[in-house]
Amino acid sequence: MKAHKYLYGPVPSRRLGRSLGIDLVPHKICTYDCIYCQIGNTTEKTLVRKEYAPVKEILEEVRSFLKEGSSSVDHLSLSGSGEPTLHSQIRSVIEGIKALTSIPIAVITNGSLLYDKEVRQDLLRADIVLPSLDAVSAEVFMKINRPHPGISVEKVIEGLVEFRKAFKGQIWLEILFCKGVNDSKEELVRMKKVIDRIQPDLIHLNTVVRPPSEKLAVPLNQKEMEEIKAFFGKSASIISEFDRHPPMVSERDINQEILEILKRRPLSASDLSKGMGISKDELDRYIKPLVEEGKIQSRLFGDSIYYEIK
Ligand code: SF4
Repeated sequence: MKAHKYLYGPVPSRRLGRSLGIDLVPHKICTYDCIYCQIGNTTEKTLVRKEYAPVKEILEEVRSFLKEGSSSVDHLSLSGSGEPTLHSQIRSVIEGIKALTSIPIAVITNGSLLYDKEVRQDLLRADIVLPSLDAVSAEVFMKINRPHPGISVEKVIEGLVEFRKAFKGQIWLEILFCKGVNDSKEELVRMKKVIDRIQPDLIHLNTVVRPPSEKLAVPLNQKEMEEIKAFFGKSASIISEFDRHPPMVSERDINQEILEILKRRPLSASDLSKGMGISKDELDRYIKPLVEEGKIQSRLFGDSIYYEIK
C-alpha cells in the first residue's frame, strides 16, 4: 500500500470499527484547544474556513485506496489533525466520495461551527455526524475546550439543535469527561436538559483513554462512567474498545503504515494490531526496531503503553 498524504489507517475506532481517516486540515488547526486532545496543543486556533487541502488530491487518494481494496473498511471518516468543518469544501469532498463508493461517510467534528448555516448544509449528505459537546455552561466550556473567542457555548448548542432539524442521518453525540472538570452533578443535570433539545440518536460517553495534551485531563473510573451512563438513560453508552480482528491484508509496507498512523495520534500496541489486522506478536517485530531507531517512542498512560512519533 503506498503512503498517502491525506488518508491514514484504517485505524481502530471505538465507534466506527475499522475506519479510514481522511485528514482535511493540517496539524493542528482547530477552533478549540481541548485539555484532553490526544494530538497535542492547537497551534492555529481559528474560525477561518478555507480549502486547507486540495479536494482534487483528497479524492484522488480515496480513489486509489478503493482501487487497492477497501473490503475491510467499515467507514470513511472525515476527521484528522484538527477540526474538519474548517475545510471550506467539505461538501465537495463528501459528494466526491459518494460518487466513488457506498461505504458510509462519518464526520467527526467538535460541532463548534454548526451555528453557521453553510456548515450545516455542507454536512447534510454524510451518513453519520459525530459531534462532541463536553460542557453546556460557559465556565466549564472555557475550561475544557478552550475555544476560539468567537465561539460561545450557546452558539454551539443552537447549532446542534438546528442541525438536528435538518439532518436525516444519524447523530452520535460524544461527551468526554475529565475528572473534576465537567463531571459535577450540576453540569450533568444541565447537559441532560440540553441533550433533550438536541435529540441525538446516540450519546457516547467517553473519558481520557489516550495521552492528553494537558496533565490536568484525568480520566474517570469505570464506576463513575457507569453512574453517568445510568443518569443519561438508554440512548447512552460508554464507548467500548474496538474488538474485531479483520482478515490480514496483502503485502504492504507495515513500517510505513505504523508511522503514518502514529503521525496522527498515539496508540497502544493493542489498538495498532486490531486496526491493522495483524497479531501483537507480528506487530512487535516492527515496533521494536522503530523504537531502537528512534523513529517512535513509548509513553505510559494509565495502565497501557502508547506509541507515538518521536
Ligand atoms: S480534541 Fe478535537 S476539538 Fe479538541 S482540540 Fe483536539 S482536535 Fe480540536
